[in-house]
Amino acid sequence: MKNNTENTPQKRKPKKRIKAGCLIFAAVLLITATAIIALLFRLFGDYYLSTSDVSQPPSTKSPNTTLTGSNPNPTPPQSGSSSESTTGTTKANANHYIQPAGAEWNLKLINKWNLIDTSYQPPLATYAGSYKFDSRAIDKLRALVNASNGRIRVTSAYRTADVQNNLYVKEVNSLINKGIPRSKAEEEAAEAVARPGTSEHQLGLAVDFLFKGYSSLLTEYENTETYRWMLDNCAKYGFILRYPKDKTDITGVMFEPWHFRYVGEQAAQEMMSRGLTLEEYLQEKGK
Ligand SMILES: [Zn+2]
Repeated sequence: MKNNTENTPQKRKPKKRIKAGCLIFAAVLLITATAIIALLFRLFGDYYLSTSDVSQPPSTKSPNTTLTGSNPNPTPPQSGSSSESTTGTTKANANHYIQPAGAEWNLKLINKWNLIDTSYQPPLATYAGSYKFDSRAIDKLRALVNASNGRIRVTSAYRTADVQNNLYVKEVNSLINKGIPRSKAEEEAAEAVARPGTSEHQLGLAVDFLFKGYSSLLTEYENTETYRWMLDNCAKYGFILRYPKDKTDITGVMFEPWHFRYVGEQAAQEMMSRGLTLEEYLQEKGK
C-alpha cells in the first residue's frame, strides 16, 4: 500500500505534466498557425486586390513637395470630384475598349480594363537624376520641359509595380485607420491611387508635372496659364492630357490636369486637336 500510494502519485504526476505540456504546446501551435494564416491572408489579400482591377485618380492627401526626387511618387492631392470617377469607374465595364495584344509601345493602353502585362519592362533612362522614363521618349520629355520655360517640373514618372502597390496599400491603411471598413477602404483607395497593374506610370510613358507656383498636384491647375500652355503645346512633343475632365467615364479616372502621357507626335496631335482620349483614339483606329 505504502509503496503503491507513493509510487502511483509519483508516476502519475509526470504523466499529468506531460499531458498539460502537450496541451499547452498544441494551444501555442494553434495560436501561432492562426496568426500566420491571418498575416498571410492580410498580405496576400492586399496584393491580390491591388493587382486585380482599377483606377487612378486624385486623393485626399496632404500636399507634397517632391522636387528632390527621393519620393518618386507624390500621391496627387486633390480637390476634385472623386465622385465623378467613382461613377465613371464602376459602371458599364462592358463598353470599355479592350486593346488587342501587340500594340505599339507608345500606344499601349493601360487602364482599369486593360492591365499591364506583368512581364513588360520598358527600356528606362534617367531624367533629372531621380526619375525614370522610357528611353525612347525621354528626349521628348526633356524638350517639353525645356520649352515650358519653367512652367512645369516633373514630380513623378515611371513607377514599379511595388511602388504602386505600396502607394495603394498605404492609402487603404490610412482609410482603415480613419475607421472605414476594409472593403470600403479598398474601393475608396482605388479612386485615389491606381491599383498596381492599372497605372500608366508603370509603363514609363506617364508623367505628373508640378505647375509653376504650386507644390502639390491640384485640379485647380485647370485655371492656370500653364495649363492652357500645356494644352496648346504638349502634342508638339508627343504628349497628351490623359485624363480630361469631361471623359472620366471613358478613362475611368478623374480629371487630372497634371498627368500627361507620351503617345508620339502624330497620335498626340490628332488626339489633342480632336479632343479624343487614348481609349477613343485606339478604338477608332482599331489599334
Ligand atoms: Zn500620374
